[in-house]
Amino acid sequence: MEESQNLHRRGVMFILSSPSGTGKTTIARRLLAEDGEIAMSVSVTTRPPRPGEVNGVDYYFVDQPEFARMVEAGELVEWAKVFGNNYGTPKAQIKAGLKEGRDFLFDIDWQGTQQLYQRMETDVVRVFLLPPSIEELEGRLRGRGTDSDDVIAGRMARARNEISHWDGYDYVVVNDDIDACFTKVKTILDAERMRRARQTGLVDFTRNLMVGGA
Ligand code: ADP
Ligand code: 5GP
Repeated sequence: MEESQNLHRRGVMFILSSPSGTGKTTIARRLLAEDGEIAMSVSVTTRPPRPGEVNGVDYYFVDQPEFARMVEAGELVEWAKVFGNNYGTPKAQIKAGLKEGRDFLFDIDWQGTQQLYQRMETDVVRVFLLPPSIEELEGRLRGRGTDSDDVIAGRMARARNEISHWDGYDYVVVNDDIDACFTKVKTILDAERMRRARQTGLVDFTRNLMVGGA
């Protein structure tokens, strides 16, 4: 029993996307808090830090020349321009971590998702969260209390655009009840971890099973 739990596996690149206000941050925080094997993939960005954001935790904050150098040097596995700022995923931490069986959670937009899928298809799992209704989405944005009416109108317009990319994902989960949604997302992650192709320790494990015993 003990041995089967320690079977080596390759990590999962777990992409969680949603129209702004759906509940992605809430689900992501809970996943990071309750699941010891997944860590956030920390992106590089040229956007200035918001109050409370910490360099190396929320993002690696870099200037435009440094971002351009990273792109040129091939240090980013994907990158995109969102709202006039550049965002990208550093390659080194991901490649080493996946090999060691560590999972990464990605908060990236649909463009980044497409690029990651094109480059690392077998490692990527794409999950899209949807609100139960457009009225509920607006209610959540207002309820969060962080944005002005103008910003909310902009987020709603962008949300409609983001919803149109629903068919670029492997799983779609409606975030109606938060606990039910979290359980579904966690179930997807657990099942994906058990995919045969990711369980790199299976060759030795099954060989031992076949030769062992009476
Ligand atoms: P996102 O990261 O997708 O923009 P948040 O996680 O910040 O969204 O959630 C937006 C707001 O909706 C927050 O105030 C959050 O507490 C609330 N929320 C999230 N999920 C639910 C849910 N299932 N039911 C009701 N409110 C929710
Ligand atoms: P924010 O500035 O609000 O933190 O993020 C703005 C947008 O950029 C979000 O939609 C987020 O998903 C996206 N984003 C953050 N990091 C990356 C990244 O590394 N690559 C891509 N493609 N998008 C990202």
